[in-house]
Amino acid sequence: MALRLAARLVLAALNRAEVRRYADAPPPAVSAIMDGETYRRSVAYTLAKSRFGMGVEIFDTAVLALALFSGVLPALFELVLAWGSAGATWTRALFILLAGVLLSLPSLPVEWWEQFRLEEKFGFNKSTLKLWITDQIKGLLLTFAIGLPLLWVLLSLVKWTGGTWWLWGFALVFTFQIVMLVLYPRLIVPLFNTLTPLPEGELRNRLLSLADRTGFRASTIEVIDGSKRSGHSNAYFTGFGRFRRIVLFDTLVAQLTPEELEAVLAHEIGHYRCGHVPRMIALSAGMLLGLFAAVAWLARSPWFNGAFGFPPGELAPSFLLVGLLGGLVTFWFSPILNALSRRYEYQADAFARKAM
Ligand SMILES: [Zn+2]
Repeated sequence: MALRLAARLVLAALNRAEVRRYADAPPPAVSAIMDGETYRRSVAYTLAKSRFGMGVEIFDTAVLALALFSGVLPALFELVLAWGSAGATWTRALFILLAGVLLSLPSLPVEWWEQFRLEEKFGFNKSTLKLWITDQIKGLLLTFAIGLPLLWVLLSLVKWTGGTWWLWGFALVFTFQIVMLVLYPRLIVPLFNTLTPLPEGELRNRLLSLADRTGFRASTIEVIDGSKRSGHSNAYFTGFGRFRRIVLFDTLVAQLTPEELEAVLAHEIGHYRCGHVPRMIALSAGMLLGLFAAVAWLARSPWFNGAFGFPPGELAPSFLLVGLLGGLVTFWFSPILNALSRRYEYQADAFARKAM
């Protein structure tokens, strides 16, 4: 834990040093497209974000350490288990969710500060306190509505399928993820945002002609009201096959010329046409399988639960612990993932250049 924290702090400090090196004179590639004032503000924002992120990193590590070694989680486990019969699965599923909620509580003021102080200072915050609180409550309700049944089935798999439960668990969660790729933009996104079709006109014609030219069959282009919460902008496509849809942030539509927007979309289509989507899905499936194998192995090892004060042979705490500690292991693989992501971004850029 300390090692990962140290590595992250050093990396963030190196990053800031690099930003400061160019703080007075922008690199030539940047000065061609950005005026001096905008550049100075972007440097100040990057530095402020990084310093804030460092504080968050230290805070989160302290909260995780406290949660793991104070005995509060085993106490919660005992408490929640007493609400049902001795072997009940639903109390165990509920424990995982409640532990997750409990651990996210200390971050709430931090997130508030980031949105209403840091982002506000640089003019990016467009959210209100009321909207922010509503978002938190909706998110919490969704977590329970989706998480409780899913965890209940996962924890029941041991009873239903025996020693191979983790293979079934992997198949279940993987299927769930694929279904969510289609359902998420239809059922979840509308709970938080409004999507409207891009109106007829030059922009729409341009983008549809690009989609045609590049063999990206898109039925609709939609605009999402991202400006409700933030001045930041984005564009993405979701789903696959005939469920595919292109989504543009209204902030992006407001900030860019039609030609610039076409370039952004060409980059996104590049990800699709270069086959990045199935490869990323395959990669995340591999990692998910590894995760389930780890939970199955650790749940069978009495020392693992015991080390954190939980009774041996209980699957739910093993799940929670792997969830909390998994990032400590996967962090060291992030150079490989980042290198891959960098390569994909370059490929998508090259595709966009050819398509324009
Ligand atoms: Zn990209």
